[in-house]
Amino acid sequence: MRSSNSSSITPADSGATETFAELLARVQACTVCAAQLPHPPRPILRASPTARLLIVGQAPGRRVHETGIPWNDPSGDLLRQWLGMTREQFYDVARIAIVPTGLCYPGTVKGSDLPPRPECAPLWHPPLRAAMPGIRLTLLIGAYAQAYHLGKRRGRTLADTVHAWRDFAPDSFPLPHPSPRNRQWFKRHPWFEQEVLPALRERVGAVLATGDNGNVNNQA
Ligand code: SF4
Repeated sequence: MRSSNSSSITPADSGATETFAELLARVQACTVCAAQLPHPPRPILRASPTARLLIVGQAPGRRVHETGIPWNDPSGDLLRQWLGMTREQFYDVARIAIVPTGLCYPGTVKGSDLPPRPECAPLWHPPLRAAMPGIRLTLLIGAYAQAYHLGKRRGRTLADTVHAWRDFAPDSFPLPHPSPRNRQWFKRHPWFEQEVLPALRERVGAVLATGDNGNVNNQA
């Protein structure tokens, strides 16, 4: 573990003229909760000032931490299947930003990933979101992303929130986490595959179709 260095990395450091690259460099250099992480901080995100779709997940798992590529795991494979996207389309950072609720791998307890660090989203999501004015839709994947971005607008359960996806349109789209561990959840909630996924593909396709470099809507 590394010691915390919160005094040197805060959004308050940013000047009005900070470039996107400078903001990303500050994010990548963050050590705010280093003392609570099992490894030296390795913020994992993909972002660009031209992105139109923002994907907010939980936090990197071990495999993602090791490779440095978000959603580079079985959960990512299922998410791409839900979206009807190839890896190439999914990782087109000019159009799709990926910013988890916690940017660094938080470690595991008894084989389960720990929650995202609570310091992270309040620190980095506002400046990153402000630096991506072209975002038209944010996918909120899992309870942690929904808790941070929806707050009291969430339903009583994750299923309630996802089932009420229309209430969060057109800006946000809540989804369950596509972890293989959630297979039983998918079986217990067949409306998700039957009703929500087609709507998700249609919405994502519409958002990306108005961009200037791709045809993701044709792949759904
Ligand atoms: S989890 Fe977030 S707040 Fe903590 S060190 Fe990584 S980037 Fe910084």
